[in-house]
Amino acid sequence: MPSLTRSEATERAALITVTSMEVDLDLTGGDRDDHEEFGSRTTIRFTCNQPGATTFLDLRPAALESLVLNGSELDPASLRDGRVELADLAAENEVTVVATMRYSRDGQGLHRAVDPADGQHYVYGHLFLDAAPTVFACFDQPDLKAPYAVTVTAPEHWTVVGNGAAMSTAPGRWELAHTRPLATYFVTVCAGPWASVRSEHDGIPLGIHARASLREPLERQAEQMLEVTRASFDYYHRLFGIRYPFGEYHQVFVPEFNAGAMENPGCVTFRDTYVFRGAAARDEVLTRTNTIAHEMAHMWFGDLVTMRWWDDLWLNESFAEYMAHRTTVDATEFTEGWVDSTVARKMWGYAAERTPSTHPVAGGAALDAQAALQDFDGISYAKGAATLRQLIAHIGDHAFIAGVSAYLREHAYGNGTLADFLGFMERASGTDLGEWSKAWLLTAGLDVIAADQESGVVTREAPAAFPADRPHTLDVAGFTAGAEVFRVEATLTGPSAEVAALREAPRAELVVPNASDLTWATVALDPSTLQAVPQGLATLPDPQARAVVWAALVDGVCLGRVDPRVVVDTFGRAWPQEDNESVLNRVAGVLLGRLVPSFLPAEEEAGARAVVAQAAAELLDASEPGSTRALLGARVLARSSADEATLRPWAERSGLPAGLERDSDFRWLVVRNLAGHGLVDRDFIERVRRDDDTLSGRLGELTARAALPGEAKSWAWEQLTANRERSNYELNALAGGFWAGDDLETLRGFVPRYFADVPAMAQWVGADALGRVATLAYPSRVVEPATADASAEALAGDGLTPAVRRSVVDADSELREALRSRALFG
Ligand SMILES: [Zn+2]
Repeated sequence: MPSLTRSEATERAALITVTSMEVDLDLTGGDRDDHEEFGSRTTIRFTCNQPGATTFLDLRPAALESLVLNGSELDPASLRDGRVELADLAAENEVTVVATMRYSRDGQGLHRAVDPADGQHYVYGHLFLDAAPTVFACFDQPDLKAPYAVTVTAPEHWTVVGNGAAMSTAPGRWELAHTRPLATYFVTVCAGPWASVRSEHDGIPLGIHARASLREPLERQAEQMLEVTRASFDYYHRLFGIRYPFGEYHQVFVPEFNAGAMENPGCVTFRDTYVFRGAAARDEVLTRTNTIAHEMAHMWFGDLVTMRWWDDLWLNESFAEYMAHRTTVDATEFTEGWVDSTVARKMWGYAAERTPSTHPVAGGAALDAQAALQDFDGISYAKGAATLRQLIAHIGDHAFIAGVSAYLREHAYGNGTLADFLGFMERASGTDLGEWSKAWLLTAGLDVIAADQESGVVTREAPAAFPADRPHTLDVAGFTAGAEVFRVEATLTGPSAEVAALREAPRAELVVPNASDLTWATVALDPSTLQAVPQGLATLPDPQARAVVWAALVDGVCLGRVDPRVVVDTFGRAWPQEDNESVLNRVAGVLLGRLVPSFLPAEEEAGARAVVAQAAAELLDASEPGSTRALLGARVLARSSADEATLRPWAERSGLPAGLERDSDFRWLVVRNLAGHGLVDRDFIERVRRDDDTLSGRLGELTARAALPGEAKSWAWEQLTANRERSNYELNALAGGFWAGDDLETLRGFVPRYFADVPAMAQWVGADALGRVATLAYPSRVVEPATADASAEALAGDGLTPAVRRSVVDADSELREALRSRALFG
């Protein structure tokens, strides 16, 4: 299927205006009961400003039954490559399409999932980025917005939720309120026997929904989510001065969802792992809170005003990312939200800047819609948000908010571009932003910031590949013996600045540039600070500065500046004393997920795991039983320990830490680790699954079976790369377990198979889902030149789809960082 090109979109938007969309879906399965297909009937009214002209409709059905344009039947055989030509248009047109569509299993389109806990079926629409034509006929581009009238026929015991308030008009028949103008990719219908919690705030009806088998945790956790929703509505109403415009506000936690969430106006979909069925760490509740606030920010930025074309998706994502952190900090209990942003988001973005796929925040080409999918990454989210924070430092918060508010009013229910946005910022601030936006938005790259206290000089080094003159506003803090001894502000408008206050401040043992994490930069710690870090990090009284130091250490390892052993050593000493849970969780994740298995020589890996396990045991022992700190300690111990005497009883549900006695997710962590070491077998794993025969339990089983060494790998690989019935989540579970464990001998044999088998999956797995699978399944566990050579060979050929290519480029770049580090530090 060809992807819509930017020039086709421009041409079509210049020719037609869509005035209304009527969509009728039949989810009852008709006379088929295999639930593979659904009925779709669409009527589109649109005007054409050049009568007689020709355009095309987007449509990707299983079968096209009829096609009527302005009263004349068109031949269904005219459908080619997902398009139907509409010729000889009138000034006012009506096209009606009746088709049978296919449900998806990869989270793209109208996805259907079965919950093994009770056999119930669920359906949700995820039409981002260009899946709308797999659900209804449309002109699928972000600037052809139209009001929608959606009706649905569903099994009688189902509830239907969508963009407009849903009303049941007869058993199994639902009418959704006509919407405000929506872009095609925002349209959704979520249908199934949902468990629901309803409320209201400030005149806005609220609903929270999840699978029926999640009713208990949903009801237990709904109030916290509603509280965040209410606080965020109040905050945005005050900030933007514009009321939420889309009627009811539903948040639906749906099964097998690829992303974190999707901002469908009035009906946001979330991954349902956000409804925590077991114990939840504070960090996880913070992440969910942040995601709720993020999607709500989109109601204004993204939904009310949408980017004209995908090249400006940063307008949506950078803004929502920035606003979510700001709202989390200003309007909820999670006042440590910026610390979380450093370790959870900016470290992700810094990694994205180090790979060859890095790109400017804005102004990318995005020549077609699928190409834009590549830009949903750490640059568009984390760097974009950091850039907006620098913009605020540059022009002031008052001007920023005034500019945003004016932009939203001017383009309400329409579209905007980078130039529109900057114009409002310039008018509101009276500042010319030409140079600023060129350096920050239109040039890729990450500056290195360093501070020398002796001379008082703060330096900025731009990457050679992306020279730019980025101005930075930041601070530098110094710490000695557990106390902050100075904090000075610095503004860099050139490559270096002399900061007298830095030179004149009392000498500090640890000097932390960008201590408040105001800017976007790699921090290079000076040699004496680096030496003091393992012993001194835990004594820093400021969690934000500690997070910046952790980011500097991880960046330093990836860039070959810091020996990974320094980070392991620091972890052993500082981590058990850390009191910020985002830092605890994310830093442990980076060590276990990347630094230990990739950067250390194989013979040192077990020792490093033991350091991590020891730190985790210390945290668990020192924390109040049942507390979320104890939970984090227990989870890291379950992942890192090689001690069968600790793990086996836990897998058998005995001697578990307080609060985890009935926690199936925790049990799967333990079983997966045991499986990787070959300490349990397939029968044992099946027995654990029978105790937890749910969606999560079945995924846990797949991950653990994939982690088993030896013969089991062949089964797992076959299931991953050749079983076309597998859902997106099942593929992720298999890929996530496959490279676990230490059976490198067997794993090595699968390196060439990755490059042969995973790209071929593009025949049946959608790009968004496959990109994730390709990243998880990449052989980064086999840190050997032969793996890099195999990557290079695959990248030199033309057998990779854009999504798989992107995953390989990034994973290959990370592999090379590890190889370089091993060569440098042994
Ligand atoms: Zn978003």
